[in-house]
Amino acid sequence: LIQLYLPLNFLGIVYRELRQALTDIERMFGLLNEHREIADAPDARSLPAGQAMTIDFIGVDFAYEANRQILHAVTFSVPAGSTVAVVGHSGAGKSTLARLLFRFYDVTGGSIRINGNDLRQLTQHSLRSAIGIVPQDTVLFNDSILYNIRYGRTDASDDEVIAAARAASLHDFVSRLPEGYATRVGERGLKLSGGEKQRVAIARALLKNPPILIFDEASSALDSATEKAIQAQLELAARGRTTLVIAHRLSTIMNADRILVMDGGCIVESGTHTELVAKNGKYANMWLLQQRESAI
Ligand code: ADP
Ligand code: MG
Repeated sequence: LIQLYLPLNFLGIVYRELRQALTDIERMFGLLNEHREIADAPDARSLPAGQAMTIDFIGVDFAYEANRQILHAVTFSVPAGSTVAVVGHSGAGKSTLARLLFRFYDVTGGSIRINGNDLRQLTQHSLRSAIGIVPQDTVLFNDSILYNIRYGRTDASDDEVIAAARAASLHDFVSRLPEGYATRVGERGLKLSGGEKQRVAIARALLKNPPILIFDEASSALDSATEKAIQAQLELAARGRTTLVIAHRLSTIMNADRILVMDGGCIVESGTHTELVAKNGKYANMWLLQQRESAI
């Protein structure tokens, strides 16, 4: 009986590992219980790599479900190498912009273009190779820190992984762990804080070295030292890339080239921090509130 039991037990373990890995991947993309039907067009082109990328949203409408429109005629540009920040209340449609840019869904009206190419005319592989995402909630695999960072570019050498960790201010933290980069993290390993997980995500993105970076800031409250550190890392990661930042703390995006304020799936204000504060509208209001909160 034991001869039969052992292999079966082993299969059980393999099955659980496999299921966990699949769940991790699905969770990472926020797609659990969602189906995807995006396919490459028969004549899809490859987005040429190794060049600066300009992003254009042109009159974008979008609905997840047939009778509930989420985005309404959203138009904006992110010129090559610049940083555009998106702010607004929860549910305004900010993360939806990121999901559409990564083409998890197709727009229902208008178009999204990169260097003039409609996303629907590009191969998904070339599009996704050009974009790095630092998600709102980073999912870690039940594996070593080394593995988790290398996930950004699986053929990276150990030295390249460590260089990325240094750039993301993660190296000192990892070095202090008894098992260093071999430390297992994730659900069944060392639990990392939100800020540490975000730094793993930044290291992954830096290792991938994409021309386009999407940074979906975690909404959880942070102390002001962590907030400053994240702002510094964001600016470092954004250098030389076309960057879209979804921000909850206005202080982290004060230096963005342009800030878009979203409300109910529409862009209701846009400008630099100084312009928007002077405008005395929604942004100025949010700014005042956050200033007051951080003073308490
Ligand atoms: P934000 O990032 O600004 O908080 P989101 O872009 O995530 O907002 O969501 C915008 C709206 O779309 C919300 O009303 C949300 O409930 C809805 N929504 C988000 N994801 C889905 C989905 N997968 N299916 C249906 N509705 C969704
Ligand atoms: Mg969001």
